[in-house]
Amino acid sequence: MLKRIYLLVAAVVVLAVVLGGLLAADQVRTLHTTLTEDRLVAAIRTAEAELGAGRTAAEAVSLVASGFGRGTGEDRWVRLTLVDRQGVVLADSEEDPAAMDNHRLRPEIAQAFDTRVTGRHIRRSPTLEVDMLYLARYSAERDLVVRAAIPLSDYNQTLRAILWRLSLVLGGSLLGLLAIGLLVTRWIGRPLRELRDAALQAADGRLDIHVAQLPELDRDTEVGQLARAFDTMRDRLRSILSELEDRNARLDAILDSMDEPLAAVDVDCGVTFLNAAARDAFFDGKPLPDRCMPLLAVIRNGEAERILALTLSTRTPQHGEARIETRKGRRIYRIHAAPIGSRGAMAAFSDMTEIVRLQQVRSDFVANVTHELKTPLTSIRGFIDTLRRGAVRDPEVVSRFLDIIDIEAERLHALISDILTLSEIESSQDVQDREAMDLTALVDDVLVLLDEAASRRRVTLVNGPPPAGGKPDGAAGETAIGSDEEAVPEPFPIRANRLRIHQLLMNLVDNAVKYNREGGTVWIWGERALGGRVTLHVRDDGPGIEPEHQSRIFERFYRVDRGRSREMGGTGLGLAIVKHIAQLYRGAVSVESVPGQGAEFLVSLEV
Ligand code: ADP
Repeated sequence: MLKRIYLLVAAVVVLAVVLGGLLAADQVRTLHTTLTEDRLVAAIRTAEAELGAGRTAAEAVSLVASGFGRGTGEDRWVRLTLVDRQGVVLADSEEDPAAMDNHRLRPEIAQAFDTRVTGRHIRRSPTLEVDMLYLARYSAERDLVVRAAIPLSDYNQTLRAILWRLSLVLGGSLLGLLAIGLLVTRWIGRPLRELRDAALQAADGRLDIHVAQLPELDRDTEVGQLARAFDTMRDRLRSILSELEDRNARLDAILDSMDEPLAAVDVDCGVTFLNAAARDAFFDGKPLPDRCMPLLAVIRNGEAERILALTLSTRTPQHGEARIETRKGRRIYRIHAAPIGSRGAMAAFSDMTEIVRLQQVRSDFVANVTHELKTPLTSIRGFIDTLRRGAVRDPEVVSRFLDIIDIEAERLHALISDILTLSEIESSQDVQDREAMDLTALVDDVLVLLDEAASRRRVTLVNGPPPAGGKPDGAAGETAIGSDEEAVPEPFPIRANRLRIHQLLMNLVDNAVKYNREGGTVWIWGERALGGRVTLHVRDDGPGIEPEHQSRIFERFYRVDRGRSREMGGTGLGLAIVKHIAQLYRGAVSVESVPGQGAEFLVSLEV
């Protein structure tokens, strides 16, 4: 920029000096010509005066010529000539007039006769062989022309000398001006350069330099004011940048704190943003690289790509569902995509896996319930039909059929009551009506209720843990309540809902009796765990549960042996009820079993 200004200034200076020189030369030339012509006019006037005074033509020209330098060695001598109308030379200060040819057609002489005033011409004199300026003046009194001439050699020489000096002066001044211009532009340029460097550094992100404080800057000059304006602008820029950074950080924190994965894409560059949840789900938790990545390389799913591509091309929100492979396995996402700006789009991925699973569980449950209800009903209707068709007349058959109908009705009742219990527990958010109670006493109540069933199967019920070390060995055929015959179980205070804990224990102990071997033992005891939790243990020494069934027995209607469960009057809902009661108390239920060596159910509860 400064270079350009300098070159421009230099060009202007050169032009001005050259033009000035030419004008000055022209002026000098004009001045010199005027002075020379004045000299010739003076010589002509003097000659005319001499003629008027009565001198002859020859006398007059020789007198005036010597008066104007002829013969004195002066360079600017004047030649005088008198010519009549016919062009005959009457007298000449340099030559013999008789030897001179006719001068009527000499341009200056012809002009003077024609205009009857003056004539003027510059040419080389053939007689003297020098460039001469001729000035002729018509004398009406005598009808002749007095011509004066002066050699131009001296005139050219003088002019050249003047022009040479002028050129020297102008050239010198030009060089001086250029040098000064160079220095000035450097001097002006220095703060400008500082300013430029600071601007470049600011562009690189270094916003901490105060340009107005640089030593080269005079605060009161325009450049100083520019520097102050620059500083103000940079301060503003810095505050805007930090505000933007803050906002971005806040936005990133908000987006990263969201559980839902979010992805932003751009028409030109594929994926431009993933929040923490999206990185975790689709990108192995790695940060998004700086280079552009196509959506398919990040979220390997054609449907997600189709939804986002449609959003980008139509610039309208799009929705859809996709099953996407994530770090945690295949998940079902509902995708909501919306355009952002003119070239981008954003997609939110709502995880529907659990909802879809629950919907499936619910419809499976309905199908199971229908099936479970239908079985005893079909059986009851079948027996009633048979009775109607004549069997009613055989009292023995009637009694047997009625017993079966009673059992089936009882099963229906048990099923309906378990379904109701389950839905009741599921719909309650927290434990209602907690009361202080003694777990040992509650176990006793349960054991009393199950006493008859246990006796039928010669199963021993023990209110307490099995003896440490050796293999548990219950007293076959008896129902003993207590860790062993001698030990008296200690009270175990808890705060809970009596009905729920009762239901929980009933289901577990009932199973332990039902699925036990003949003559087996069941131990029931509680244990205080860390954090005020209690673990309930129900252990039996029956056949136990194969590992592949252990994780599934808590599902509704899941049975290891359907026939056995039916035969035992099971509904398939007992352990599901236990699981839900445990969850009500922010707990869980699990089973430990080695097939052939019994099973132990552990329920941890906050009670
Ligand atoms: P059910 O009404 O069939 O007893 P549950 O939900 O109570 O239903 O139990 C599910 C299944 O778990 C039972 O059908 C049975 O096969 C198995 N099970 C439960 N408790 C025991 C146990 N103590 N020993 C062996 N198997 C058991």
